[in-house]
Amino acid sequence: MWNINQAYIGGAFVPVQGTEIVEVINPATEQLIGNVTLANRDDAKRAIAAAQCAQRTFGRSTKAERIDMLRRLQSAVLARTELIRETAIEEYGAPVARAQWVSQYASQCFANAAQTLERYQFARHVDATTVIMEPVGVAGLIAPWNSTAGTICSKLASAIAAGCASVIKPSELSPIQTQVVAEALHDAGLPAGIFNILLGRGMDVGDEISTSPGISKISFTGSTGTGKLIVRAGVDSMKRVSLALTGKSAAIVLDDADLAKAIPLALHAAFMNNGQACVAGTRLLVPRKDLNEVIELVHDLVSAMRVGDPRDPATLIGPLVNHGQYERVQHFIRRGQEQGARLIVGGEGRPDNLEKGYFVRPTVFVDVRNDMDIAREEIFGPVLSILTYESEDEAIAVANDSNYGLQAYIFSSQQNRARHIAAQLEAGTVLINRIGPDLLAPFGGVKQSGIGREFGVFGLEAFLEPKAIVTE
Ligand code: NAD
Repeated sequence: MWNINQAYIGGAFVPVQGTEIVEVINPATEQLIGNVTLANRDDAKRAIAAAQCAQRTFGRSTKAERIDMLRRLQSAVLARTELIRETAIEEYGAPVARAQWVSQYASQCFANAAQTLERYQFARHVDATTVIMEPVGVAGLIAPWNSTAGTICSKLASAIAAGCASVIKPSELSPIQTQVVAEALHDAGLPAGIFNILLGRGMDVGDEISTSPGISKISFTGSTGTGKLIVRAGVDSMKRVSLALTGKSAAIVLDDADLAKAIPLALHAAFMNNGQACVAGTRLLVPRKDLNEVIELVHDLVSAMRVGDPRDPATLIGPLVNHGQYERVQHFIRRGQEQGARLIVGGEGRPDNLEKGYFVRPTVFVDVRNDMDIAREEIFGPVLSILTYESEDEAIAVANDSNYGLQAYIFSSQQNRARHIAAQLEAGTVLINRIGPDLLAPFGGVKQSGIGREFGVFGLEAFLEPKAIVTE
């Protein structure tokens, strides 16, 4: 049983002043596995003050010093890989393979940031002017529950590379993973206050970070609705913002694609992370002429997917994070049927073999129109909508007919054709014949999927501000 009642402020774990206690439930078993006492606004003020204090020195640190810090953070997190993996399974329900990826990714973020920093020139010339890239100041890093260790480490790595001290507020729904990551980061032995971590409600701790004049920059990952609140809250202090938000990504299978290769990948893109992925390819666009073949393939593949105990390496889909998320997904499965979409596999309720846990049946709809709720809204569960198209232009138009534009997928046997279509898609990233990211390439969304980019040089520059030094 975990009992978490501390925040990491000024280089030490200190008792929180907040008094709200939240229970932590294992989503696969519905058993109580911990209690967390949430931090409050006063705790957030303390954390901001500690970061401001650290910023005075850290903002002037050298590139070599920051690379050294990143390497120490990498080693410290690497040493806890197993524990990070185990808590992602226990608290979140990530299947083993996913938990393994997230736990390795957490340490890899620091290695990637160090590599980016090594090559980065902080001074450059524009005509006769010298431009120096300076740290933007103290950063607030606010994370969601669906990739806790990875999001904390990725944001922190970029902030450290840029010379920005930070206040990190992970989701109140992932306290155990946060605690394990915080302990790992502490082991790196960085000077006090360079990063501070506290768990609290968005309306309380999150709002303090978003409004405080002591914070210069917010790097937020979460829903579009919360992103809008954060932008509004930060406007008086003119905060710089990077927002990584909601997605409703399209996956286009072209008529020249090998369906036997494309459909398994497309299903993986739709159901990754138990369907709780911002980049999930939840609108699958297939040529009308191929629909029957696609239905047959999808039906067979999805029916064979193992849903259940996330500890079992054979499991592909674990539980959703909590009961609220389970209900939300059930609502969309009902809504899809009410609006006239046809179920080809899955449906409401738990899978037959499971009596406990927030498990849903991987569900696929056909006869979906792009104006139905299941095609427009992010469901955040293993629910896929299949739409058909007649022409390439129609496929592009349907893919782009969305408020969101985070990621898109194209499956084709012709690279050039796929690239030509990629150029016309409204998305921050387009993956061609693959579903894994390039972690040094810029990542972020267009339209209501976000503002700004993370990872690599673009992620570093999101924490920097150019200063022009103009001489006579
Ligand atoms: P959320 O927006 O509810 O919460 C995200 C974080 O914001 C949490 O830490 C929460 O406590 C905090 N928060 C809530 N209200 C706040 C406020 N008023 N001020 C400041 N902070 C506040 O999102 P979630 O449910 O935790 O995560 C799921 C969402 O995140 C999905 O929409 C998903 O697509 C999105 N997401 C996007 C990406 C991306 O890279 N684009 C990655 C992962 C998740």
